[in-house]
Amino acid sequence: MTGRRVVLATRNPHKVAELRRILATAGLDVELVGADAFPGLADVPETGTTFAENALIKAHAVAAATGLPAVADDSGLCVDVLGGMPGVFSARWSGRHGDDRGNLDLLLAQLSDVPDDRRSAHFACAAALALPGGAERVVEGRLSGALVRAPRGDGGFGYDPVFVPDGDTRTTAEMSPAEKDAISHRGRAFRALVPVVRDLLGSLDPAGGPVT
Ligand code: IMP
Repeated sequence: MTGRRVVLATRNPHKVAELRRILATAGLDVELVGADAFPGLADVPETGTTFAENALIKAHAVAAATGLPAVADDSGLCVDVLGGMPGVFSARWSGRHGDDRGNLDLLLAQLSDVPDDRRSAHFACAAALALPGGAERVVEGRLSGALVRAPRGDGGFGYDPVFVPDGDTRTTAEMSPAEKDAISHRGRAFRALVPVVRDLLGSLDPAGGPVT
């Protein structure tokens, strides 16, 4: 399998960079094309109620629109004391999609009276691969930890400044990108997707030539 084109169904530059590093490190020989490479591509509403459902909706929509195999992810933060929320609403928890600081401030305010031993949470990520013909696979990864009371660190995005993984004392915003990739929910989901991508794309073209 050499040089196949696969679309990454995201316009988030943080995710594109992170997923490219992960797939390259895994030695997957694909040409990754971001959604921005297709100017006419409409944003896909995340109407699902689970991460897996949203990832599959996005991957199928982009595969159908581009005629290329498409990978999509959906992720978020699940806080135990909030019954798993913000969950699929993580990006729009404060009411405005993508308002990272507003989302984080609202979450901290909601948890202000929650004691340290009840602030457990996990990041979750579903990663889906869809082919234009309709075949699909989805895998999941998670990173467990706890939420601190005030933001720390300049790295990462979203809820990283308040999330400390189990077994560490730093927030994920205080880690280097490589350190975070090695343990992150998205890293785990995309590493789990690597053999699935090999398998599914290999089944498309046993001769190993590029599919365009
Ligand atoms: P998505 O773009 O629909 O997958 O929503 C992801 C949202 O979940 C982001 O906007 C963040 O609020 C949160 N999130 C997902 N992954 C991470 C991460 O690695 N660090 C911090 N926040 C994350």
